[in-house]
Amino acid sequence: MSDDVHEVYAVRYAEHARKRADNYIFGDPHDEMTSISYFVWVIKGPHGTFVCDTGFDQKAATERARTIVHPIDEGLKAIGVAPDKVEHVIATHMHWDHAGNYDMFPNARYHVQDTEMAYCTGRCMCHQTLRIPFSEDDVHAMVRKIFAYRVDFHDGDEELAPGITLHRIGGHSKGLQCVRVKTQRGYVVVASDACHLYSHIDEGRVFPITYSVAETLEGYRTLLKLASSRHHMVPGHDPDVTKIYPAAKPGLEDWVVRLDVAPKI
Ligand SMILES: [Zn+2]
Ligand SMILES: [Zn+2]
Repeated sequence: MSDDVHEVYAVRYAEHARKRADNYIFGDPHDEMTSISYFVWVIKGPHGTFVCDTGFDQKAATERARTIVHPIDEGLKAIGVAPDKVEHVIATHMHWDHAGNYDMFPNARYHVQDTEMAYCTGRCMCHQTLRIPFSEDDVHAMVRKIFAYRVDFHDGDEELAPGITLHRIGGHSKGLQCVRVKTQRGYVVVASDACHLYSHIDEGRVFPITYSVAETLEGYRTLLKLASSRHHMVPGHDPDVTKIYPAAKPGLEDWVVRLDVAPKI
């Protein structure tokens, strides 16, 4: 493996049934139930293992009526990742479904955008509408890590290691970042919530939780520029991800999939 080529995995851990209309500003003409998936992502390569987001735990799942289908540590273990050995965690943004489990990686450094920490600790959190997707405990936990010298701040576009770059997108959350990874099939972009579902980017629609609709829409253009193709862009909550990408190994179907292998489309 060359110095800048990595493997990328999506680890599905939870799901939530909801009305299709709840996924879009201006709703959806189809009044039917659908499901969204929850993931963390793993990048493995010559520079170690990078975990992208930390998901939520059972307590948070119960409070917000989500269903954990596979505990995150089991998904990580299935691909040989021991949480206490992980050295780098990329926090795409601080929403509760991405920034929980804050004690799971005791030896990791956390990578977060300046703007995101300023946003989730600043005046915008005085507004109930903007506060909804944040958990006070998760934000406190990240502040504690800052004071423990365990957080690396990033501002805009930055290289984390050869072949792994962070890019601030904003939009859905003010300091949301995506991750671009060089793989054997080209540049894969872990969009996280810069694009929840394929339908958002394909149809120019916007998820209802957003700091800026304009930045969200411009963000789609950025994602497509960064990715080698539309099929190298991996949305943050689409259940199709584990249907179109191959299992990391037998037994992990619809659970842990390889994103550095071409999808079945
Ligand atoms: Zn989010
Ligand atoms: Zn999310």
